Amino acid sequence: MPTITLSFDLNNRLKVKKDKANSYDSCIIYDSAENKNFLDKLHWQNKDYDCYIDYHSNHTSPDLFLTWDALQSAEKTEALTSLLDLIEPYLINISYLKFNQTDYVYRFRNKKERNTQIYKNDRNIIYQSQLCSTIKAIRRIKEKISNDPITLNFGAVEYILPSHFGFCLGVQNAIERAYETIANYPDRRIYMLSELIHNPFVNNDLNKRGLKYLQTDKGQWLDADGKAVVDMSDISALWNQLKLNDIVIIPAFGATHEDKIRLIKKGISLKEFDATCMLVEKVWKAIKKHSEEGFTTLIHGKYYHEETKATFSNALSYGPALILADIEEAKLLGSIIMAPKEAKRKLFDKHFINRCSPGFNPDTDLEKIAVVNQTTLLRNLTIEIINYFRELIIEKYGEANRREHLWDNEKGDTLCYATQVNQDALIKALSTDLDHALVIGGKNSSNTYQLYQICARQSGEKAHYIQSEANIQSIDTINHYVYSQSGDNTEQTRPFINTELSTETHANGQPKQKKPVRILITGGASCPDGIIQQVISKINEFFPKEELRSMESVLDELNEIKELEESKNG
Ligand code: SF4
Repeated sequence: MPTITLSFDLNNRLKVKKDKANSYDSCIIYDSAENKNFLDKLHWQNKDYDCYIDYHSNHTSPDLFLTWDALQSAEKTEALTSLLDLIEPYLINISYLKFNQTDYVYRFRNKKERNTQIYKNDRNIIYQSQLCSTIKAIRRIKEKISNDPITLNFGAVEYILPSHFGFCLGVQNAIERAYETIANYPDRRIYMLSELIHNPFVNNDLNKRGLKYLQTDKGQWLDADGKAVVDMSDISALWNQLKLNDIVIIPAFGATHEDKIRLIKKGISLKEFDATCMLVEKVWKAIKKHSEEGFTTLIHGKYYHEETKATFSNALSYGPALILADIEEAKLLGSIIMAPKEAKRKLFDKHFINRCSPGFNPDTDLEKIAVVNQTTLLRNLTIEIINYFRELIIEKYGEANRREHLWDNEKGDTLCYATQVNQDALIKALSTDLDHALVIGGKNSSNTYQLYQICARQSGEKAHYIQSEANIQSIDTINHYVYSQSGDNTEQTRPFINTELSTETHANGQPKQKKPVRILITGGASCPDGIIQQVISKINEFFPKEELRSMESVLDELNEIKELEESKNG
């Protein structure tokens, strides 16, 4: 088959030329011998072609490249107009064409490659914690033999920290990328699509360094002062002010196709500043794989969460998809799968019409299903949904045909192991004797809320969800976030440390030696270590100095443990 090659630069602009009538025309190379990046078969100007893409570095090319938006309003030949129509559906593929099934946009870096100093080098206290870094160093040595929690003995108060807590690799990578971008491009305007991660302290710090958000986590467009604009045509919306050389960082949750296409059309380079976590991308790859085999994607996730929205939008490019919030919705869908043909459509429209891909057909699109999930949900909940559909499919089609109708993901889920490790370590730490449990993280952080739920099941109202030390009002009062499905969280003032409880008496009425107050502390995947240490310091302030051991002595003790573990490991 004959081939055509189109040239794009790194800003997603198409190479064009002017014809004699001063209209823009396509700049196609026919039957090139150097084709590498296959796009698709295209039928153009009454002929079939294999279409390839060639990439040019912006800095070296003297050629004329135009953005998609500029081409739309420019005078152009009919041939170019029809070509643009043909390749418009491929805009995202063109941008990421060099990646194959085993490549990731932003792979986790190993220890040597990582650049943590980029956000620690200016005494930024939210990232600094000697306590947490020593605990994590001990954990790394012991990783293979134990996930026991660590107890920090401050005398009157003890803190129990699970073996795994806080920043995951995806978040660390995204933060490093943001700080590196600020450092490397001082002359360019830098934006984030929305919150880089779900932590207000990290986002505010980046904001102070000049980064601006294009939109809220709910997708509302913002102006330069961070205020939501009512009308998307409003010129003050930052989206409407983007220029070719601007940088837009895509957060760890990824971005919807609509947002990516909007950026591509404006000539914004995508993959260079795409901080999508590779575990989120792994879910997208799983969707591509099962969709190619004809399975409909069922996404277990919160429909208002950015990651679920991005995953849903990604799934649409491969086939039918639908979002399920929980096991109750899974059972509703199950009743539709089992319902007679004449009842399916009505039931489906009643419950899922706003949660599915356009044109979803419940008669045919529910015959082969595959479950994926928002990476940070509780493992048990996703497993429960997968098990439910397994039983249902066996009932409907028989065990022998199960794999024909339910995608068999080898691991049973597409959860993030970082979240899982934090959850498992927390469950282990909760098995000790505790007076309170504090879960620290952004109040809109899904994985932090999952950690809180684990604590609340064990400790009830002694488990508190906080963002920072600012939530601790006094020794006996704490402001706890009540998480809501809509994301509009409220605060609840609760009793905190009851000093009376920590004093017991002997039978003769003499006071026993005071028992230390025991507080479990963990942080969600977007919680910087510095905030954990600030919470510890704030609580310590409530205790008389003479009843407390110093931070230095606790650190010395931790370093001794570290040295001991190192010597055991040779
Ligand atoms: S929680 Fe998991 S999926 Fe989310 S950013 Fe971190 S590593 Fe990636």
